[in-house]
Amino acid sequence: MTNKQQGFATTAIHVGQEADPATGAVTVPIYATSTYLQEEIGKHKGYEYARVSNPTRDRLEINLAALEGGTSSKVFASGMAAINAIVSMLKSGDHVVAGHNLYGGTPRLFNNVFANFGMTFSYVDTSDVKNVERALQKNTRIVYLETPTNPLMELCDLRAISDLAHQRGIDVVVDNTFMSPYFQRPIEFGADMVVHSTTKFLNGHSDGLGGVVVCTKPEQNEKLAFLQKAAGAILSPFECWLILRGVKTLAVRMLQHDCNGQRVAEFLSRHRKVQKVFYPGLPDHPQHELAKRQMTGFGSMIAFETGSLDNANKMLRKVRVCALAESLGGVESLISHPATMTHAAVGEEGRRKIGITDGMVRISVGIEDADDILADLDQGLAAI
Ligand SMILES: *Cc1c(COP(=O)(O)O)cnc(C)c1O
Repeated sequence: MTNKQQGFATTAIHVGQEADPATGAVTVPIYATSTYLQEEIGKHKGYEYARVSNPTRDRLEINLAALEGGTSSKVFASGMAAINAIVSMLKSGDHVVAGHNLYGGTPRLFNNVFANFGMTFSYVDTSDVKNVERALQKNTRIVYLETPTNPLMELCDLRAISDLAHQRGIDVVVDNTFMSPYFQRPIEFGADMVVHSTTKFLNGHSDGLGGVVVCTKPEQNEKLAFLQKAAGAILSPFECWLILRGVKTLAVRMLQHDCNGQRVAEFLSRHRKVQKVFYPGLPDHPQHELAKRQMTGFGSMIAFETGSLDNANKMLRKVRVCALAESLGGVESLISHPATMTHAAVGEEGRRKIGITDGMVRISVGIEDADDILADLDQGLAAI
């Protein structure tokens, strides 16, 4: 649990990150072992087999639970493995209400895997709580949210949706990957579980995949621990260590991401080749007030409209500081084209419904010098 007296950066650097009791090593050791010595039948140090538990993993789970203000957490081999574990807690006949503009892999998992096992999914625009209310059914077990959404940066009101769901005994799950716990802690607004692709800001260096589910109740933790053991999509001790290392700089990285994000958003919104900018930190964002209420910063995810596929491509061919690549949340600026990359699987019709155009470009602003990022975008946009 987060010590209320202790700040976020201190928690990130110290909780679960205590020196190794055996040697005094100041960083958590990577316990590269598949099994553990037992003294006699049934007598061991709490570890039997590494699918079930691993000391490096334990430390990361303590740390991430503290950062999100949850009671415990369980880490998985990727963000998708974590989301898979959440839905695996449900059963045939259960219904999920989800945002209509989720990370593309999430509806793919829901519709192409879990729908085959008798679960049903409704997708609604969660920026209006009334849409969520209308979609709730007797068998709804989970409301599954992302805020802000990718790439349109639409928000949903976590407090309002949590209150609504809780009146009916429904759990709220929030994918908090875009903001990281540094800028948004959904549990404080009523969320029952928080999921992350740690691949993004938590790890922060684009060098390893991972996922986490943060819990607020012991029964969630028990089910997820069982799923780690039963299904086995656990995170390796090396990847756990990378994230333990990454979160130590989460606070300073997020501050710089936010600062650079704001500058890039303002630059783009003034640029004559850019028709529209999607960033909750701009005063003309339709949910700017909600953003100020439920986030403590606006992050570095920005989408903007170049007008056409051809314009987008002209620009993306030119950029040099910004790397044309999927993913986000790394120290390096990553720029992508949602229509052909992250949202290709949604289909043209699906993209039209959500509002993703062929001319839309998304940038995950890194922590390079802001002037270099701006110069790079400017010379890229000059090609249009
Ligand atoms: C990347 C991402 C995921 C999936 O995570 P992986 O680690 O790639 O499996 C889920 N949700 C969001 C919001 C993401 O950005």
